[in-house]
Amino acid sequence: MKECRRCHNILPTNRFGPKKGTKDGLRPICRSCHVKDSIERSRKIRQLTLEHYGGNPPKCACCGESNTEFLVIDHINGNGNKHREEIKNCPIHTHLKARGFPDGYRVLCANCNHSLGIWGYCPHQLNSGSEKVLSCLHNDEQLEVAVCMQFSEQSCEFI
Ligand SMILES: [Zn+2]
Ligand SMILES: [Zn+2]
Ligand SMILES: [Zn+2]
Repeated sequence: MKECRRCHNILPTNRFGPKKGTKDGLRPICRSCHVKDSIERSRKIRQLTLEHYGGNPPKCACCGESNTEFLVIDHINGNGNKHREEIKNCPIHTHLKARGFPDGYRVLCANCNHSLGIWGYCPHQLNSGSEKVLSCLHNDEQLEVAVCMQFSEQSCEFI
């Protein structure tokens, strides 16, 4: 048995994850405290990243959407897919923070990011009468495919 330094519960040692370099080879905080910590930390990093690229409070660079749940980091030169492959499973926020927030990124909402990624433009930036936009947006089948692509590509960003 071992006391968690965070929640002070006395728990079986299998409730503690391994950590090299400690006396007993275990983390000083229990697994559930560690998970809470990790979630809290990645939320903070996400918020910091959004504020760095999208202002405080962070907003979509295209439409001004400010609900942070909708906001994602966009690679300005548009090679986000290639970049995401390079950084593998590392969440983009952690990756950017570790590199000291390099230039070349901005904050967009999921809608604007989606439209730019799939159609190459955002309807907010075009005249509302544009036939091209309307025909694209009214093609449900195309949209459905686009939505699937969006979520498989970006699931790591909605942390
Ligand atoms: Zn604990
Ligand atoms: Zn937007
Ligand atoms: Zn837009």
